[in-house]
Amino acid sequence: MSVAEMATHGTDERGFRSGVPNKVLHVDDVHKSFAGLHALSDVDLDVRQGETHAIIGPNGAGKSTLLNVCVGRIKPDRGAVIFDGNTLTGKAPHEINQLGVARVFQTPEVFLDLSVLQNVMVPALSKRDGYFNLNPFTAFAGETAIRDEAEEVIANVGLKYHIHSPASSLSRGDKRRLELAMCLIQHPKLLLLDEPTAGMARHDTNATIDLLKEIKENGMTKIIIEHDMHVVFSLADRITVLAGGRIIAQGSPEEIKNNPKVKEAYLGEEQV
Ligand code: ADP
Ligand code: MG
Repeated sequence: MSVAEMATHGTDERGFRSGVPNKVLHVDDVHKSFAGLHALSDVDLDVRQGETHAIIGPNGAGKSTLLNVCVGRIKPDRGAVIFDGNTLTGKAPHEINQLGVARVFQTPEVFLDLSVLQNVMVPALSKRDGYFNLNPFTAFAGETAIRDEAEEVIANVGLKYHIHSPASSLSRGDKRRLELAMCLIQHPKLLLLDEPTAGMARHDTNATIDLLKEIKENGMTKIIIEHDMHVVFSLADRITVLAGGRIIAQGSPEEIKNNPKVKEAYLGEEQV
């Protein structure tokens, strides 16, 4: 039994038991090296339906690599990721996206030349049609239903007053909200967020926490990588701690807070 399995054995505060078949994502024995550097080793992780699962760890721990393995951007050297009964490993990012996995990257990826509204309409149109009409003069014409929904999602993430602004004019924090809106309009089953509050002022961070708390849409499962412990402890149902590419602890926020291994891993970094 791995450390991670031992840590999750038993019943947590939400009444989940390890081994019950309500896990939506299963990372099975994933390894990934970059030119001899072990970015991920022996990574086993179960994420349960509807939970907010935080992945934390010092810089360089392998958090972003793990997320990129899940979304098909990085192919693991060994192991597999299974989501909702489908093996994701070997699939292209757009195929994984079609299965209901959406993600907000560490560096926001938005269409800088398009407006906020158009940016949010793009993933909705791509999902419906299976491709995207790249001509911005015709792509959005007559799409009233999708436009209405995009307007609603944009208001929900707090970008109402920027709806017609080009994405290039947004602050970094607002670009993250835009990316979040681009995910939410897809109604994903699993939402992956890599440091969604990075670059945000405290006020915007708190607004994002509130927004993520509100998202309980169809029992959406969330994995959140986060450096800001205030965000982690405000949102997470369970936490996995990575250090040096390995899982060193897993459990409820209370368990993680009091775990000496976790404190040790963070020595020299911000306190948990
Ligand atoms: P985290 O997100 O926890 O800060 P990363 O997953 O980004 O960590 O990185 C884990 C380790 O893998 C780091 O040492 C990083 O330098 C290395 N790494 C990540 N991506 C690459 C890459 N594409 N090529 C080479 N090394 C990489
Ligand atoms: Mg990272």
